[in-house]
Parts: sequence; C-alpha cells; structure tokens
Amino acid sequence: LYNMVQDLKGNIRVYCRIRPSFSPETKNMIDFIGEDGTLVILDPLRPQKEGKKVFQFNRVFGPTATQDEVFKDTQPLIRSVMDGYNVCIFAYGQTGSGKTHTMSGPPGGSMKDRGINYLALNYLFQLSNKRKDVINYDIHVQMVEIYNEQVRDLLAEDSSTTKLEIRSCTSDNGFCLPDATMRTVKSTTEVLNLMKFGEVNRAVSSTAINNRSSRSHSVLTVHVHGEDISGNILRSCLHLVDLAGSERVDKSEVTGDRLKEAQYINKSLSCLGDVIMALAQKNSHIPYRNSKLTLLLQDSLGGHAKTLMFAHGSPEEDSFGETVSTLKFAQRVSTV
Ligand code: ADP
Ligand code: MG
Repeated sequence: LYNMVQDLKGNIRVYCRIRPSFSPETKNMIDFIGEDGTLVILDPLRPQKEGKKVFQFNRVFGPTATQDEVFKDTQPLIRSVMDGYNVCIFAYGQTGSGKTHTMSGPPGGSMKDRGINYLALNYLFQLSNKRKDVINYDIHVQMVEIYNEQVRDLLAEDSSTTKLEIRSCTSDNGFCLPDATMRTVKSTTEVLNLMKFGEVNRAVSSTAINNRSSRSHSVLTVHVHGEDISGNILRSCLHLVDLAGSERVDKSEVTGDRLKEAQYINKSLSCLGDVIMALAQKNSHIPYRNSKLTLLLQDSLGGHAKTLMFAHGSPEEDSFGETVSTLKFAQRVSTV
C-alpha cells in the first residue's frame, strides 16, 4: 500500500525545510507555513501584499519541526527500499541553511537529533529484523565525496590517494563505484562509527582547503540485498546526498581554485536539475552523463526509482535572494 500511495503522487517529491533563526536582530521573512505544503515569504524590500512570494511543495517543515517529524514523512520511502525500489534523497540549499543538519544531524556526533542517514539505517535494520523469517537481508554502505568532479572514498584508510572511477554495473542496472570501500553493517553502532570515520576523513582535507565540505557533495550509498526462502533475490539501493552549497559566487570576486570550485558546483547542480526535469517531462534522452553526480545516482533517479528533494532555506531576510532561488529551483523540480 505504501508504494501504491507513493506512486499515485508521482516519483519526485519535494519537501521544504526552514531552519530556526539564529540572529534575533535580523528580521524573519517567513510569513506563512501551511499544513498543505504552502510557504509564503515576504520580500524585505517590498513588505506589502505584492512582496509576498507563494510556493507550493509536497510538505513544508518550519523552524520548530523536529528530526523525528521530518523522518516520519520520509519513512515510507525508506520502507520501499526494502521492497526493492531504488531511492534517492538529497538536501539542496545554500551553505548554512541546514542540509547537514537534516541528513547527518548536528556536528559532534551526539545521539541527540540524529538525521535521516542514521534514522534511515536504523529503520532498515528494524525492518530486516522483523522480516527475518521470510527474507534474509544484507546491508552494505559506501561513503564518498565528489569534489571538482573527482570522487573520493571517505571510508578508505588513506582516502587522500584514492580517486575513484564510476563504472557501469550490470547487476545494479546502473553505475557504481566498484573500487570504493564497501562495509557490511549490522547495527546502528557500526553505522555511527563508519559515519564518524567518514566525517573525520572529510574534515582532514578541509584544513588544507578551507571549509571544503560545503563545496563538495557527500554521498552515502546503502546497498540492500535480500533473499527469500525460495531463493528469490532482491537488490536495491538508497543514496543519501548532502549537496554542495547552492549559493551563487560572484565571479568578479573570486579567482583561481575558488572560481574553479564554483564552476564545478554550478555545473553539477544544474545537471541535477536538468536530469530531474528531463525525467519529469518523460524526455527520451536523460543527460545523466553530464556530471559525476547524476551518473552515480542514475539507478536511483528515474525508472521505478523514487526521489525526494529537501529544499533548505534560512528565515533571515538577509538571505532572501538565495532562499528564493533555492525555492524556485525546488518549485520547478516539483511542478513539471
Ligand atoms: P549546511 O549543511 O546547509 O551548510 P548546517 O546543517 O551545517 O547547514 O546548518 C547550519 C547551522 O544551523 C548548524 O549549526 C546547524 O546545527 C544549525 N541548524 C540547521 N538546521 C537546524 C534545525 N532545523 N534546528 C536546529 N539547528 C539547525
Ligand atoms: Mg553542510
């Protein structure tokens, strides 16, 4: 039933999340958040009626929404992974808007407010356990970072040296990273340890290149393999993606490496938008090959796969421009 309900709504869902405000001295531009997914924000330069911008999503989570509330609406998708569907969940938005909070949780790795990555794996283990008399599930994870169109293994002992190739995989009917470290996980403790390992790996390189984590995409891939009593095999995967910050970089102000980074991010985020829109319009050609990100996610974008995008926005009015551009991108993705 879950899958039927989801199918009726189409395969691309867009949820919006607005984080709490952290600067009381800055005005809040959120005007209205509706149960039905309506979001109204106020243009700080035109606070009258015509300054109201109205957006419509599948769901909008306001500043007071908890991690558990957000996960509750994500759970049906996670369940469908156990039924053999490929799923892709990604967080989009400018740096500081709450992407990492939604996907991983607050920094430091305390158990409080764990994000979707942890809650999803926890739920997969619960389902696997519940069904263990009928299906035997194996769950494996990979964790990589895409920076300047290069894929790096975050679970490798020495991740700095490994540049990975994305190859076509006949078994998955898509593309994969055969050389990236694959870890079998059986408990949430193991998952937490792996995530910590991956985050440390990511942080190590960010001392060399300042705050690199906001300028790379991080992809946690969960491979599910199931076998029932009659020997039927089920295979699916779940990609959990914390995207690079979507903020526009002023080309007149940056040069060299910083400009190159900005161009790579721009290109891969617009490729992602192009792929989703081509899928929604049922085009015959889907431009997966235009970026590493879309190539890697190919098996979980389109076809029978289910996609969920979290569009993140900040409530402070000084981020009006960036928030509106995120919401417009998200709106385009959800309405085509
Ligand atoms: P991004 O990954 O988009 O750059 P972060 O997730 O790092 O943004 O969020 C920026 C800051 O705001 C972090 O300190 C984070 O803990 C905090 N934050 C983001 N979203 C929320 C939220 N919904 N509730 C509480 N704190 C949040
Ligand atoms: Mg982040």
